[in-house]
Amino acid sequence: MKKILSAFLIAVLLALPVFAQKGSYADMKQLQSPQNPRLGFVIHGGAGVIRKGSMTPEQEAEYRKKLEEAVTAGYKALQDGKTALDAVEIAIRILEDSPLFNAGKGAVFTADGKNELDASMMDGKTLAAGAVAGLHHVKNPITLARAVMEKSPHVMMIGDGAEKFAKEMNIELVDEKYFWTQQRWDDLQQVIKEEKEREQKKNDKPKSQNTENKPLTREEYYAGMTDAQKLPRNKFGTVGAVALDKNGNLAAGTSTGGMTYKKYGRVGDAPIIGAGTYANNNTCAVSATGWGEFFIRLGVARDISAMMEYRALPVQQAVDAEIKKVGNLGGDGGVIAIDKFGNIGISFNTDGMYRAYINSEGKPVVEIYKE
Ligand code: ASP
Repeated sequence: MKKILSAFLIAVLLALPVFAQKGSYADMKQLQSPQNPRLGFVIHGGAGVIRKGSMTPEQEAEYRKKLEEAVTAGYKALQDGKTALDAVEIAIRILEDSPLFNAGKGAVFTADGKNELDASMMDGKTLAAGAVAGLHHVKNPITLARAVMEKSPHVMMIGDGAEKFAKEMNIELVDEKYFWTQQRWDDLQQVIKEEKEREQKKNDKPKSQNTENKPLTREEYYAGMTDAQKLPRNKFGTVGAVALDKNGNLAAGTSTGGMTYKKYGRVGDAPIIGAGTYANNNTCAVSATGWGEFFIRLGVARDISAMMEYRALPVQQAVDAEIKKVGNLGGDGGVIAIDKFGNIGISFNTDGMYRAYINSEGKPVVEIYKE
């Protein structure tokens, strides 16, 4: 009898933290009720080596202004009664049209000097999702991702086929030249030059030390590089948004040009549902930015949702735990998330992440560094 009693006691003690977390999570439900509809909106503009003083005050002001414009426009849409999906698309289109961000107009170049765009969107209410990859002519990839979700029976379309579908949907196509910007072109030239030097050094090494086929960690990849050399390889610039609308529906979207010097046909995490983007009304909406290969391998966005669903973790704890996993695997980047009660989670393991959200007073807050 004694044994049974002590086993029971141990079981209760072990279960306590789980119940405690569940309790506090359930308490948050009061925040979102029909009498107290809560809107929520968060965006990001990419994560990377963004240190205080690395930009001129004018450059920094430009970034801040664009982020504020996008977060305000998305939030206004929610206030006007539009859906979370509308708000996400509106804000991402603004960032795609700006040359400041690595999406749409400001997309980075591939190793063979092209711009290859990826995007995705997900509806937390229905778990419907749309994704596009390897685009060369679609001005606003996020709009095409939404069209795939809403107007096709598919989840993901790529390359020429996706562009053919864009034409059928009357979605704006542009000449490839539209995506050319001097800054991104210069970044590519610098990376090409350095990669040639690295290649040379590698060829000089004995074959036994050749690690070409092994995935590199962040430390290995950046080994020996100065900040100036790291800059063009920075993962900052991808854009994303997550929203909670007045009906309690969540949505997420992400759009990117990928990574400078990516190889032909490479697809990152941004258009992979569950890696760069995920939304589920029962948990949260997530958009990620960073070194995509790591985010795909971990299934980052879906894993955050799963931690909330299975372990009842609050959103901030879930995103922190996930970014730790990304770091442990050797990757870098960040995520934004919002839960079904409007609580926000933001986490990154880089020096900075362009980001903006609407605070509890309904005011836009823009942040760049680890503040
Ligand atoms: N995650 C994107 C990719 O790997 C890059 C980024 O976030 O800037 O394609």
